[in-house]
Amino acid sequence: MSDKSKSSAKQSSKVQPEEPSSEIELSQRKKVAAGFPAVASSAKHVYGEVGIIEGTKLMAKINQFDGFDCPGCAWPDPDDHRSVVEFCENGAKAVAEEATAARADAAFFRKHAVAELLQQTDYELGKSGRITEPMVLRPNGTHYQPISWVEAFQLIGRQLKSLADPNEAIFYTSGRTSNEAAFLYQLFVRQYGTNNLPDCSNMCHESSGVGLTETLGIGKGSVTLDDFYQAKVIIIMGQNPGTNHPRMLSALQKAKKNGAKIVSVNPLPEAGLLSFKNPQKPLEMLGTGTSLTDIFLPVRINADVALLKAIMKMLLAKEAERPGTVLDQDFIQTKTEGFAEVKQDLLQYDLDELIQQTGVEQEVIEEVASLLAKESKIIVCWAMGLTQHKNGVDNVREIVNLLLMKGSIGKPGAGTCPVRGHSNVQGDRTVGIWEKLKPELARKLEEHFQFTPPKEEGYNTMSAIEAMASGKAKFFMGLGGNFVSASPDTEYTAQGLQQCDMTVQVSTKLNRSHLTHGKTALILPCLGRTELDVQESGTQFLTVENSTGVVHKTQGGKQPASRHLLSEPKIVAEIAKATLGSATTVDWNGMVANYDTIRNAIEKTVDGFDNYNKRVRNPGGFYLPNGAREGNFTTDSGKAHFTINQPANHPLAEDEFLMMTIRSHDQYNTTIYGLHDRYRGIYHERRVVLMNASDMQKMKLSQEEVVDLVSEYDGEKRVVRNFRVVSYPIPPQCVATYFPEANGLVPHTRSAHGSEQPISKSVVIKIKPKC
Ligand code: SF4
Repeated sequence: MSDKSKSSAKQSSKVQPEEPSSEIELSQRKKVAAGFPAVASSAKHVYGEVGIIEGTKLMAKINQFDGFDCPGCAWPDPDDHRSVVEFCENGAKAVAEEATAARADAAFFRKHAVAELLQQTDYELGKSGRITEPMVLRPNGTHYQPISWVEAFQLIGRQLKSLADPNEAIFYTSGRTSNEAAFLYQLFVRQYGTNNLPDCSNMCHESSGVGLTETLGIGKGSVTLDDFYQAKVIIIMGQNPGTNHPRMLSALQKAKKNGAKIVSVNPLPEAGLLSFKNPQKPLEMLGTGTSLTDIFLPVRINADVALLKAIMKMLLAKEAERPGTVLDQDFIQTKTEGFAEVKQDLLQYDLDELIQQTGVEQEVIEEVASLLAKESKIIVCWAMGLTQHKNGVDNVREIVNLLLMKGSIGKPGAGTCPVRGHSNVQGDRTVGIWEKLKPELARKLEEHFQFTPPKEEGYNTMSAIEAMASGKAKFFMGLGGNFVSASPDTEYTAQGLQQCDMTVQVSTKLNRSHLTHGKTALILPCLGRTELDVQESGTQFLTVENSTGVVHKTQGGKQPASRHLLSEPKIVAEIAKATLGSATTVDWNGMVANYDTIRNAIEKTVDGFDNYNKRVRNPGGFYLPNGAREGNFTTDSGKAHFTINQPANHPLAEDEFLMMTIRSHDQYNTTIYGLHDRYRGIYHERRVVLMNASDMQKMKLSQEEVVDLVSEYDGEKRVVRNFRVVSYPIPPQCVATYFPEANGLVPHTRSAHGSEQPISKSVVIKIKPKC
């Protein structure tokens, strides 16, 4: 344990350690993404964690037809070929993290008490290595201890059987989980008797799912990778691909070479969108890089609806000047409904007021409108910068309005692209992980497995936290993930978990959710993506779905980190057997012996998986059906819906700021690979608050000054301490902080209308200098 964490143990009683580093270093933010530094960083992580020989072997298999799917994001691979190097810096870091030679074994847990580990940073916890055997923390225990798999499953089964009602149990899923494990998990949970299946999608793209389903009939994006290469305009809103989906930059580079213009809408000028040196092209790395963004709109936080309305008003004016040349009237007439109402609504807004709300100069917005006026092959991409707001669903619906106006959905080179974070977050939903059981899936589960699934809607992430904190839920299981760090309102979420009688985490590595535990806590270590999975019938492969709806194989080949590890399908099946006993209609052993059996069951119960086992063995897999992609809108009326949405309203007092949480370049979701944010020029420190220089002056704050951040909702104050002020080009009264350090400020009592996503991108805070 480092000296720093020892000292924080004395000073902090919170779930997240709160001491700032004394080593913060600030430098010029980068104007070019990737290039040699990305290659060097990838090599450092892979070779440092795994070794040169093993590391080289592993990286030759990542995202290859016969290899494993990158455990990072859900960005798609090319349909028909694979390059030798088919990964990015973050993919390399994700693999290094999983394949590390470090081990958190029984001796490690004997040495470190839970209370002591809790005072380590997320980065330090991650460095402890792979967990090698099942561990249990008994009631009032101070240390995790080894437990046999048999005893662990019996303990869980007994606990679940003892609950007064199945709805007292919560079964969370992280987006790393394969289709096969996710399908078995939801099957077990529904046979057990509840739909309490919250997932990480509740926190990242629920607003996209809701907004897209309502307007287009499908809650997924409509574009393929090939559409990027045919597009004329690509708008990227509230997304930072350089850090969170780095290989998207290669697609954008190719799109630009094919003539596309790129419009970036973001409160921060992110390096990845400014310029890019493709690490797969050594000669290119010697040059200055490809400039990606043609028009940058530094929009105020959550002013996207105002911006889209301003653009649409300008398009309407241009259409009035040159009828039939700007909007796709034929598409609007034949494929959509509600345009007249939206047009009427837009006319009510004052253009100057809308522009003022955005914080962007009028000429820049006009430039975008002029560009859109003459093109129809338009793609809009977005991520959590759009979805994690009170009006997250409205943001998504307003994007759809713009695309529908232009007839830019359901044709090549055009459409919607909500870029998913975790590698199988979309697939888990497809195969049934959702607190809302679709009637069609319920009917097919009943037919195929002869049981009646529960109909009552289960807890999503927000209501699950509430249920645990209020004592309504007593059992929590996480199939992957790091629930306490990923969720809003960290202290409140931790209290909820701590009140449970039992918490169970299926994990590869130690994280904070193991340390904010129920009365009894279990860690069940599982195989990672890179590892060999052998069951009774032989070596198995798994399948996942990427952001564009392609289902494909993933197969690791590395010897597991420990001989005690089990696969996620096996763990789920054993818990199901221990819990359901003879009261199950599923042959769990058969399912696990050969994963083809699980895929056959998915084919029989989930639409779009015809010939699953055959088609998924084709190199690159297969596309799931997507009506919107074909211009076939599966809404009630069969037409795409225009909707009326309001611009967000955040009245701020002089000393208040709108805060958004962001990721550093050295992290992926809750996994912290390092303490630097190279592109933004911030090193050795994660407790930082990025502020406009004029706000710093107004608040009399100096660079690197240490402050506390406070949010107050419904009379309840939340404080996170010891953040360093960093001057940054962000719009006035907007600030940015890293996730998960600032999650403690995000209130559990507020969420997006219609999707109940946390509002992590628009939290009103005050900044308090230390006395
Ligand atoms: S873009 Fe995403 S999926 Fe691809 S290698 Fe990078 S982290 Fe992995």
